Order: sequence, then C-alpha cells, then structure tokens
Amino acid sequence: MGHAAQDISSDVRVVFGANTRSNIAAELRRLNLSKALILATPQQGDAALEIAEYLGELAAGVFCKAAMHTPVEVTEVAMSHVAETQADCVVAIGGGSTTGLGKAIAYRTDLPQIVIPTTYAGSECTPILGQTENGVKTTLSDPKVLPEVIIYDSELVKTLPVAMTVTSALNAMAHAAEALYATDRTAGTTAMAVDGLKAFVNGLPKVLDDPSDLAAREATQRGAWACGTVLGQVGMALHHKLCHTLGGSFDLPHAETHAIILPHAIAYNARAVAKDLRPICDLLGGDNAGTALHNFATSMNAPTALRDLGMAEADLDRAADLATTKPYPNPQPVTRDDIRALLQAAWAGDTPIE
Ligand code: NAD
Repeated sequence: MGHAAQDISSDVRVVFGANTRSNIAAELRRLNLSKALILATPQQGDAALEIAEYLGELAAGVFCKAAMHTPVEVTEVAMSHVAETQADCVVAIGGGSTTGLGKAIAYRTDLPQIVIPTTYAGSECTPILGQTENGVKTTLSDPKVLPEVIIYDSELVKTLPVAMTVTSALNAMAHAAEALYATDRTAGTTAMAVDGLKAFVNGLPKVLDDPSDLAAREATQRGAWACGTVLGQVGMALHHKLCHTLGGSFDLPHAETHAIILPHAIAYNARAVAKDLRPICDLLGGDNAGTALHNFATSMNAPTALRDLGMAEADLDRAADLATTKPYPNPQPVTRDDIRALLQAAWAGDTPIE
C-alpha cells in the first residue's frame, strides 16, 4: 500500500503508491472532513466517479467541468456547487487544469484540498494559481491555494498517453532546470531539482518501454513532486516567461509548449550560467545543457517545433515583443533580437542556438 514521503514543505501530506486512491476516505477522516466535492475534466469523469464510490457517504458531489487555464466562469459555476452541496473540502483528480479549479475554489473559500494528480505538471505542489478572465491570464500566490494532501497513485498515470507522458515530463523538468539558476535558490532546492531531473532521466525511458510499469511510473511521479516543489519555492525565468506568453497570447497547449521551448531557453541561459546548469550535462552527457535536453527530448520523440502546434511564423515578431516588453530577472540578458532568434529556432524545430 502507499507510503507517505518526507516533504521539505512540511505542511503538505504526500502519499505515493499504486492504488492509494482507494484510501481516499481515510484521508478525509484524518482531517475531520465529511463532504467532498470531487473535481475533474469532462474527459476524466469516470475517474471522478470512481473516487465518489470510494468516498461513499463522504462524497457530496461531482463537478466535471474543469478546463485549461482555469476560466473564472467555470470557477463560478463550481462555487455554486460548493454552496449547494455545503462541501467542506475539494478532491481534485486530474492534471494541472483540474488542480487549478480546486485551487481557485480554495482561494475563494479556504476549503482544504486533496489532489490526486494524473499528469506530471506539478501544480499540486505550489501556492500559485493562474486564472483566466476575458481571455487574460493572471497569476497569484497565496498560502490558501497550497493543497493539504497529495496522493500520487501510479495506477492513474499509467493511462496517460505516451505522447502526453513525454511532454508532461519535460514540463516538470523545466521547473527543475530553471530552479538550478534561480536567484533565490538554496542548496536544498538545488538538490531537490537535481533529484527531480534524475528521476525523469532514469524513469522516462523505462516508462516508454513499458507504459504500464508501475515502479517506473512511481519514480516519475516522485520526479514530478520534486520538480513541482521547487517550482513553488523559487522564482522562474526566461523559459516560464516564454511559455506563459505563448500559451496566454497564442493559445498554444501547455505541456507541448514547455517541451519545445525548454532546450532553447536553457541553451540561451547556458551562455551565462553554464556552471549552474552542469548537473543537466552530468545527467544527460555533453557540454551544453540546452543541447543535452534537445537530444533527450528528441530521443523520447517529443515535439520540437512550434509550427507543428499550429503557430504561424508571422506571429513570431509579436511573440518576441510580448516576451520582452516587461523586464524580469534572467541570467542571460533578454534582448528582443536574441529572443526573436530563439523563437525562430523553436518554431522551425532547429537545434538550440548555443
Ligand atoms: P491538463 O490538466 O490540462 O490535462 C490535459 C488533458 O489530459 C485533459 O483533458 C485531462 O483530462 C487529460 N488527462 C490528464 N491526465 C490524464 C491521464 N492520466 N489519462 C488520460 N487523460 C488524462 O494538463 P496539464 O499539463 O496537467 O496541466 C496544464 C495546466 O496546469 C495549465 O493551465 C497550467 O498553467 C497549469 N499549471 C499550473 C501550475 C501552478 O503551479 N499553478 C503548475 C503547472 C501547470
């Protein structure tokens, strides 16, 4: 059965193991909770219903309308279900979109959240909430938003399609890669980032060999937890800024965009902080962390070109403008021309510019 992990943010209870979701009722009872509103996307309704079954009389309702980028309109409908069911907690089962809805409810109500992640996005480990209203995405950080319990059940990521497994893993690795040069990093966050990267470098090839290998799936979930935790603890830079711009203004899909941009953003910053990025070369080989990530991503059959996500070449100028208007801390100075060149390479699927 499951085992609880030591967490460097000790307020969160973290459970790993195959079939740990079936113990969900015990998790509620530990917290004296008895009326859970279960959240999912429309695609994961069955998973939500299974949790409702495990919860029995502790389930107050099921709401399966979570959507990408946490639209405020969806949260408002969910809030009416919270009121109607008099829910005393939320149970979010799914990827970052479903976790986002749970966080949006917690932000408004301070209800406890139990998150059962089914991707590697890592949102369950952070006090960060991104929401979209009238097409504009804003991000806030609040301790209320940090979930109380995370249940990493390896059986749930087993159903994650292989393509999504790869892009979601690279999304997680991006948090750890940028944590290596974060200005507010500590020895603890760096060690955790390296652990997270290592878990994916070792675990992902095994998962691709046999997607139903539960031990390998659990190893990658440990990686997701480590990468998500550092995301919540240190500031991110160029890579996350570019992905936020591309996702927010050009509607590109989250995990795929991260997978494509990561090698380019890391090669860009390797010009300034090659030494801090050395752990990536140590894990993957080679002398440039960005190129090493590119080779790893390619060997996992990850998408490499923004044009394959439907982005128009004509939009690259605007993307470069948007990504460079507001200054932010980044190891390598961010110039419009350099970012335009980076985006061109990422659009075409070229190797990163070293
Ligand atoms: P997602 O939650 O949008 O999931 C994508 C699709 O895959 C959905 O249809 C979902 O139902 C389906 N899916 C998820 N797990 C599955 C499984 N095991 N089997 C089959 N289908 C499955 O994707 P994501 O990449 O996990 O999350 C992206 C969102 O999370 C973005 O909006 C992003 O901004 C947010 N995010 C937030 C933070 C944070 O700290 N606030 C961190 C990371 C990501």
